Amino acid sequence: MKKKIAVLTGAGISAESGINTFRDSNGLWENHRIEDVASPTGWARNRQLVLDFYNQRRRQLLNCQPNKAHILLAELEKEYDVTIITQNVDDLHERGGSTKIIHLHGELLKARSSLDEELIYHWPNDILEGDKCEKGSQLRPSIVWFGEAVPKIEDAIPVVLDADIIIVIGTSLVVYPAAGLLHFSKYEAEKWLIDPNKTHLPAIPNLKFINDKATTGVDHLVKILMNNRNN
Ligand code: NAD
Repeated sequence: MKKKIAVLTGAGISAESGINTFRDSNGLWENHRIEDVASPTGWARNRQLVLDFYNQRRRQLLNCQPNKAHILLAELEKEYDVTIITQNVDDLHERGGSTKIIHLHGELLKARSSLDEELIYHWPNDILEGDKCEKGSQLRPSIVWFGEAVPKIEDAIPVVLDADIIIVIGTSLVVYPAAGLLHFSKYEAEKWLIDPNKTHLPAIPNLKFINDKATTGVDHLVKILMNNRNN
């Protein structure tokens, strides 16, 4: 049976694909305050601003490509049972070839009803004022905003509990509940953290740190894991 790997990714894994991270830009997301564009109050205050913001992010995404880190994680599936748990709303893990992906914070290429969160639609185009769900309410980005529940955490916890190896890549580990996931890992699980700018590490037993950006850090780690696959 293949060993199980849980990979927890954040905005840093997509930085080398040309998508800006959030906290590297002084806590602004593409020059916007997070509460203006990624919160229910921002939506209530200025719906057009929120739609424009995500329409721009969606257009930008369609011009970005998965980088070597996304692609190598998909290749790990040849030897390991890999599940990606991502905080990212981009689809670069999918396009990189990974097959098991949990999007904790939603997906940019989907729209959802602002009335019924179960009504979700594939939506690769702009969401416009007046685009409605089948129940007649305005569509909004299918993104989990700050202050909203993260239902997919229920799918992610058992994956971490069960994993033999945990890999954390490019996340500031400050957004909860995602940041708390590491605490569900088995004591004996092998744990790796890849990030080029970490000043302090989370207090997790057996954590090994690769002080590098995602593309080269994942390349290094995948070589180690491929060599160790039968251990
Ligand atoms: P964050 O912006 O808070 O932290 C980014 C982390 O990535 C930092 O630790 C930084 O040191 C690291 N990093 C920067 N460049 C890197 C590189 N080349 N390789 C590896 N690591 C690198 O990101 P977060 O923890 O994911 O939290 C931000 C929130 O904003 C998330 O909820 C996410 O949904 C959202 N967001 C998503 C995207 C996306 O989908 N690509 C982009 C920006 C923000």
